[in-house]
Amino acid sequence: MAVLHVTKYGDPILRQKLKPVNYSELAPRLPQLLKDMEETCLAVHGVGLAANQIGLDLRMALILIPVSDEENAPLKRYVIINPEIIAKQGEKLEEEGCLSLPGLWAEVKRATDVTLKYVDEHGKEQVKRARGLLAKAFQHEVDHLDGKLFIDLVNPTLKPEVKKVIKKLRPKWD
Ligand SMILES: [Zn+2]
Repeated sequence: MAVLHVTKYGDPILRQKLKPVNYSELAPRLPQLLKDMEETCLAVHGVGLAANQIGLDLRMALILIPVSDEENAPLKRYVIINPEIIAKQGEKLEEEGCLSLPGLWAEVKRATDVTLKYVDEHGKEQVKRARGLLAKAFQHEVDHLDGKLFIDLVNPTLKPEVKKVIKKLRPKWD
């Protein structure tokens, strides 16, 4: 297992629309890849990690999310391959961050309830309805796979401030 380098804001792969995964082609290297992604996500205390955040052009992401609000609740892992949001509802403005922009937090508007269609780590098609943090994570990760970042969703009036913070934080990123 290995903790991988997480790509940071400014790396062109974060702005790329990623290639659909051919599951049977990826399958032989998937277990090791997922182990590495999970270890990386845990090491940086992330909720999710998209493939381009470790430099890979693959439409897939891993999400590690607590099963409840309780402290030290166990984590549930979602591997979402070729995901697609097929329905969304509600709207909420909430603070968000990203492993590729460490230290930056900003409020963005997201749907509160989404239905995601995806292929799981065993190659099985799934349809999952999610609310709360999981719904937020699904949207955040699908955006990554389309080359979008959460800062794109920030209210335009706050963008100059976001730019300023990025400029200040950037020298600390590797
Ligand atoms: Zn992110």
